Amino acid sequence: MNIRKSRTLIRLLTCDICLIYLILIIIFTIKGGEDLAKIFNCKDFGGSCNWKGRAETLEELLKKISRHGAIKHNMKAMSDDMKLKIISVIREQ
Ligand SMILES: [Zn+2]
Repeated sequence: MNIRKSRTLIRLLTCDICLIYLILIIIFTIKGGEDLAKIFNCKDFGGSCNWKGRAETLEELLKKISRHGAIKHNMKAMSDDMKLKIISVIREQ
């Protein structure tokens, strides 16, 4: 194989890798939207509690957080202000 041929081969190969990479990104972007879980770390809200809540939807996670808050932190009800603060520290993964 001469140099010219191998260069063309390398160019083709890198191009293919780019294409595969692009397709993978597209697949992950489409799939990622469905599979993202919402995560709440109680620590992010201040304090030293290590509890972590995880759910597929925000509503579900807020329910879990509210239950945890009532049991562990004597939180009677979740005010709208509190809810907004909680939502601001919720992460997606
Ligand atoms: Zn906690």
